[in-house]
Amino acid sequence: MSDPHIESMIDLIDSHCHLTLQPLSRRVEDVLEEASAVGVRRCVTIGIDVADSRAATSLAARFENVWATAGVHPHEAGKADEGTWAELAEVLEAGGVVAVGETGLDYHYDFSHPERQREAFIRQIGLAERYDLPLVIHCREAVADALAILSEHGTREARGVFHCFTGTRDEAVGILEAGWHISLSGIVTFKNARDVREAAKIIPPDRLLLETDAPYCSPEPVRNVHPNTPGHVVHTCRFLAELYGESAAALAARCNAAAEGLFGLGG
Ligand SMILES: [Zn+2]
Repeated sequence: MSDPHIESMIDLIDSHCHLTLQPLSRRVEDVLEEASAVGVRRCVTIGIDVADSRAATSLAARFENVWATAGVHPHEAGKADEGTWAELAEVLEAGGVVAVGETGLDYHYDFSHPERQREAFIRQIGLAERYDLPLVIHCREAVADALAILSEHGTREARGVFHCFTGTRDEAVGILEAGWHISLSGIVTFKNARDVREAAKIIPPDRLLLETDAPYCSPEPVRNVHPNTPGHVVHTCRFLAELYGESAAALAARCNAAAEGLFGLGG
């Protein structure tokens, strides 16, 4: 018989969500409480522009188990100017931030010109180096370019995660060989995500993170539930645990350890 309280035995970090975006931001306290009730007691909330990064850091200051990142998303890169980078540096300087991002490249959508995205990415690689922080990298249909930019502009100490990975097995090999972590979202549970599952199988135990990317990307079997919320990361965890042939608790423990190590999270 399955134990209805099984989820309460999981202790899992949502390593990438957007608590500052609507509709989650309207009811953050409830969202965190609901997540905690199913075993998701720690969240990393991700900044997508300077104002959002400031909002993320205030949430992190308000809630003990919420950490913030600060960055400019590739979709926002076209609006960035010198003032943006000075302000982002101010946010990083003030502290309370565990990573730079999300930054990266998105060639699927053209909200920002690719050249502006590359400039913004390079700027943020520099900021991550200056503040000795890991990078949270959004990368869609641009893995080769992202890896080339990282190897040209990143130092040996550069570290970070390719979040919401949706690429192929070969792309995962390239990312892992270059030393980066990979984070899987609910997309890996989608019926048509066979490539992502093949890639998931080769991620070493200590290089995998789990995330929701909430309010987006609800996993199966709650794919039709909107918005996605941090608590739903347990579904992705259980799905992958089955794929890997291990217990959800064991998978959660190793993904937590990877997130703790990368972002320097406390317990
Ligand atoms: Zn995101």
